[in-house]
Amino acid sequence: MRLRNNPEALDYLLSQEGLVYINPTDVKGKWHEIFGNDNPIFIEIGMGKGDFILENAKRYPDKNFIGIEKYSTVLTIAVKKAKNDEIPSNLRYLKEDAVRLNEVFDDEEIDGIFLNFSDPWPKKRHTKRRLTYKSFLDVYKKLIKDQGHLVFKTDNRGLFEYSLSSFANYGLTFEDICLDLHHSEGYDDNIQTEYERKFSPRGPIYRADVVVDK
Ligand code: SAM
Repeated sequence: MRLRNNPEALDYLLSQEGLVYINPTDVKGKWHEIFGNDNPIFIEIGMGKGDFILENAKRYPDKNFIGIEKYSTVLTIAVKKAKNDEIPSNLRYLKEDAVRLNEVFDDEEIDGIFLNFSDPWPKKRHTKRRLTYKSFLDVYKKLIKDQGHLVFKTDNRGLFEYSLSSFANYGLTFEDICLDLHHSEGYDDNIQTEYERKFSPRGPIYRADVVVDK
């Protein structure tokens, strides 16, 4: 996402205490306490401008949601957009890089992970940066509870094929694969992301739903 850096973004995020957590060191294992309930927790990694996680939080008040984004400028847009309305009490934001997930979540603290339109990193030498690379799957598997889901959507066929083989090699169980999300039956509850709205007119959206079997 190419956006001009907003030099005031970090200050804005710092002013959102209790809603936004910025590279925290004291939240691991505490998320249920933070939400003040024992409801399941779902995270979106690489949330971007946040439409998907906000709509989830509104639609599913009995679940908790955390939108994770590594760039302050992007996260600020998401938070400001959400604040145009009343922020649902089951939503939090986390400014963090996915490589540090195991510093901010305890094992089995998460019920499910969403990866939407993750950066494809098409060059071979950048494979390790893909959010479906085995080192990331390793962390996800620890953080997600047994039988929790990882749901992945993309318009990028190369990244989708790579990710399917990464999931299979890693021993994740395939629950559902869809090769054209917007023209298939049974996905009426799909919540679109900003990228999805932008890129779906140009071609199919791929979706994989895989389960962690411990
Ligand atoms: N999920 C949104 C959507 O579908 O509209 C945004 C997709 S955008 C292509 C990818 C987003 O992931 C960007 O906002 C980027 O900053 C974020 N991102 C990329 N790598 C990340 C990482 N390692 N940790 C956290 N966020 C990351």
